[in-house]
Amino acid sequence: NATISKNAPLDASKLSIKTADVVKPLVANKDLVFGKTFTDHMLTAKWNEDKGWSSPEVTPYAKLELEPCAAVFHYGSECFEGMKAYKDKNGKIRLFRPDMNMARMNRSTARIALPQFDGDELIKCIAEYLKTEERWIPSERGYSLYLRPTMIGTQESLGVNAPSDALLFVIACPVGPYYKTGFAAVKLMATTEYVRAWPRGTGDAKIGGNYAPGLLPQRVAAKAGYQQNLWLFGEDHQLTEVGAMNLFTMIKNKQGELELITPPLDGSILPGVTRDSILSLAREWNEFKVVERKITMPELRDASKEGRVVEVFGAGTACIVSPVKTISYMGEDLNIPLDPNDSTSQAGPYTKRFSEAIMNIQYGEVEHPWSVVI
Ligand code: PMP
Repeated sequence: NATISKNAPLDASKLSIKTADVVKPLVANKDLVFGKTFTDHMLTAKWNEDKGWSSPEVTPYAKLELEPCAAVFHYGSECFEGMKAYKDKNGKIRLFRPDMNMARMNRSTARIALPQFDGDELIKCIAEYLKTEERWIPSERGYSLYLRPTMIGTQESLGVNAPSDALLFVIACPVGPYYKTGFAAVKLMATTEYVRAWPRGTGDAKIGGNYAPGLLPQRVAAKAGYQQNLWLFGEDHQLTEVGAMNLFTMIKNKQGELELITPPLDGSILPGVTRDSILSLAREWNEFKVVERKITMPELRDASKEGRVVEVFGAGTACIVSPVKTISYMGEDLNIPLDPNDSTSQAGPYTKRFSEAIMNIQYGEVEHPWSVVI
């Protein structure tokens, strides 16, 4: 094919757009269920180790055609991203820190021997894709269009090696606020039976292979009445992540100082965009200590018994923050405070403040370099 040169880079200027003849009816905001409704189109680009990247295409959303021997079906050659597009009150489409998703995706692909791509070029392609899907981007605060960039190994061979062929695709679904009726604090089961990730493993890559093994422990927790697993690591039961979110604890230390603590990026923790944003905001506010350090369940249990735990929350793109009200540890339920000044509230004041500050940036209520108008 004369139009595909050797080792061609991903090039947004080559993007072609073929729109659907018939478009789907929109779903009312109130009926949106996370990840169920997809838009009319998808964005794809193919890669081959000799040719490089094909011209990216926006085409009608459709089934993929793959050989049963394709690498993705056998050795888990898959990684993905989760990001959102927002519509501000002036109708402008915005992305939140998309460069971070692109950088993380390239680290994920590198870890599983899938190809690299130019993140800025993919953002440009996504921008064009979003223009074709504009009617699907809700404008109400709390609503957004969730984007799922994905890469799979498509080599048609059972050989266990780095795939010679890959497919990059982006699909999109309109989503509502995680908690339809305001915050809903969750109960966590500190999981001592199973481990999600470990240093020098793959926990810091967003690969499908990290998620399937978490589904059984999730079911075990759900059967016992807990919505999420609190993933621990090591004999000393270090806290790592919660479900598919990063973990934050707000604790008063023994000197009575307030500390926001999150586990460090030691290779076993996914470097969340929300995590990074919360740390930056907290450091900017400069009202309490902000620390990335190891924290163990015995330490949290002691702090809880001494009344020093202020708030605990998960952080991720889907919900921004997810307040925690209970942690079950070795058969004992630790009660985590929510709002000391409002017994009906489902989230603590710091949790709420982070959520509002980030949402204000995402919806362009506050101008900030993190919010990128496309
Ligand atoms: N940890 C895990 C395991 C995740 O899957 C996610 C969701 N991407 C996060 C943390 C939060 O990351 P982000 O803030 O980038 O959504």
